[in-house]
Amino acid sequence: MIRLEGITRSFPMADGQVTILHGIDLHVGPGEMVAIMGPSGSGKSTLMNILGCLDAPSEGRYLLDGTDVTKLSKRQLAKARGQKIGFVFQSFNLIPRTNAMRNVELPLVYNGIRRRTAKTREALERVGLGSRLKHLPSELSGGQKQRVAIARALINDPAIILADEPTGALDAKSTKEIMELFTELNAAGATIVIITHEDDVAEYCTRRIWLRDGQIRGDDKITDRRGGAERISA
Ligand code: ADP
Ligand code: MG
Repeated sequence: MIRLEGITRSFPMADGQVTILHGIDLHVGPGEMVAIMGPSGSGKSTLMNILGCLDAPSEGRYLLDGTDVTKLSKRQLAKARGQKIGFVFQSFNLIPRTNAMRNVELPLVYNGIRRRTAKTREALERVGLGSRLKHLPSELSGGQKQRVAIARALINDPAIILADEPTGALDAKSTKEIMELFTELNAAGATIVIITHEDDVAEYCTRRIWLRDGQIRGDDKITDRRGGAERISA
């Protein structure tokens, strides 16, 4: 699904170059749910921008769903991003005076798809918001806003969902709900990569990667994963 080989990212600075990612090798297979953790400034967002085709690496190869995206033009990269990747952000990134349906259908509008209503409604039902289709973001709780954002991320059936601190702005109860939703989507086949500072969040994942100073310093399978069993008994 995702294969990074020797990825580096450097930025030009007044006094030379600063290198943020130093030769990242990473493989994420279909159906994995990966937490990326690490101190602030370790390069998590820089890595996520590359994974999301929002930024290109300085060196190395990135195969996404079989395509070497480091060889694509800007236009082709934008197309790959629209078709293969669903994004979820800490700050939801919803359009304020626009209802849940309109927010969720946007990626379909960008892809020029005319028949959108049934698919959009289905995506909102999938995240448990079937009764909030016409609500504005201001009429929804934080957890509900993030559900709208997740429905939007799902609408094009992406190969992978990337989430940058998706629970960073949520209370404990909403965090649990959102992580249970990601766990359900993962059980249904979605490949998910989540950046997080919280152990509570990483515990829902199948694998935990530690980033430090732009290098992978740890990569563990999570054996006592949270989510399923706990939810059934609750
Ligand atoms: P994290 O998300 O782990 O907190 P980031 O990936 O945002 O870390 O940033 C890692 C380092 O890269 C930081 O020191 C940051 O200042 C630097 N950095 C990020 N983007 C740029 C850029 N466009 N130009 C120069 N330095 C950058
Ligand atoms: Mg960051």
